[in-house]
Amino acid sequence: MNKKVLDRYLRLPLPCNKVLATYIWIDGSGINLRSKDRVLNRIPCGPDTAPGWAFDGSSTGQASTDKSDTTLRPAAVYRDPFRLYPHVLVLCEVYEGGGTKPAPTNNRKFCNDLCEMHRSDEPWFGLEQEYTMLDVDGWGLGWPKGGGFPAVKYQYSYCGVGAKYIAGRDICEAHEKACLYAGLDFEGTNAEVMFACWEWQIGTSVGIKAADDLWTSRYIMSRVAEDYGVDITYHPKPMGAFHPGVGMHHNFSTIKTRSKGGYKLIEEYIKKLETNHMKHMKQYGNDEATNRMRLSGKFETAPFDKFTAGVANRKASIRVQRKTKEDDMGFFEDRRPAGDCDPYLVCGLLLETCLGNKSA
Ligand code: ADP
Ligand code: MN
Ligand code: MN
Ligand code: MN
Ligand code: MN
Repeated sequence: MNKKVLDRYLRLPLPCNKVLATYIWIDGSGINLRSKDRVLNRIPCGPDTAPGWAFDGSSTGQASTDKSDTTLRPAAVYRDPFRLYPHVLVLCEVYEGGGTKPAPTNNRKFCNDLCEMHRSDEPWFGLEQEYTMLDVDGWGLGWPKGGGFPAVKYQYSYCGVGAKYIAGRDICEAHEKACLYAGLDFEGTNAEVMFACWEWQIGTSVGIKAADDLWTSRYIMSRVAEDYGVDITYHPKPMGAFHPGVGMHHNFSTIKTRSKGGYKLIEEYIKKLETNHMKHMKQYGNDEATNRMRLSGKFETAPFDKFTAGVANRKASIRVQRKTKEDDMGFFEDRRPAGDCDPYLVCGLLLETCLGNKSA
């Protein structure tokens, strides 16, 4: 597919009342996204003005064939970085059947209810999404063909520069610009410890916007990588036991942790997280077993079964930055979530555990 040829058609002006809307949702796998298009006759300014829709849930692992009509409810609207203004991306929640019950992979409702409940605590999140680029043959991008390993040692790839140390920078760059165009709280990027592994950060965002933006940034990444014929994986241990893993650190604070005396409150939150450690570990990745492979105690991780916390400690489950301790206020970092976790679930669990769930 020649993108230059496509450009001729993308440049065609449309009648002024035609807006293309790409509806996006999480499918039954809990990690893959789906999308389909709809022509609207006005620009939806937000989720309330974007019409609801439906799809065939039997083709996405979300319904049986005889009860296939599945509901899409708009949650957030972004500018479309592929077709540009006035076209939009519409991130949706999935509800079973006619729309009464959230689908099993719809954790947004859980998270949003908690964000609403704790609105006055002003929860902020910063999410660090790591990912690995794979060639079409499924082997790491730029890794030697036939199952070979990169020539360079890991410590040279982290924030690395030069073709010997990194691969796939174009995708990282294109994605960054596209996410900013879309209106995401996109914060930054860096090359990661493993060759062809990268990270982007979303934040610091208030409440549900962090997880909404993270999912939309995953969608944009899939589309950008599609242009380059590259496959993106969030698998927590894509290259096996002898290579670094892939996570999504969740940084969290509230108005109280960000105020004087906040360090003591963070210590209280950490105690609560410790008590709930194994409950969280079951939900901190798309698949518990693969996150267990990642959290081996090696490559800057804490062991899966053992909760630890520490200041400036990258081998702990929870790391508090040195500055937070010195200032007596700030935030903490939960290093346990896998690269393929659902940030709706993790952010929701952090709120539920640290701040409580009044309705529970
Ligand atoms: P590192 O790789 O050293 O952990 P990063 O710069 O990749 O650091 O990520 C730091 C994250 O911390 C960012 O996502 C940022 O949004 C987040 N963050 C910074 N301040 C706060 C805060 N007060 N509350 C929540 N998250 C925060
Ligand atoms: Mn059809
Ligand atoms: Mn980081
Ligand atoms: Mn990282
Ligand atoms: Mn981190």
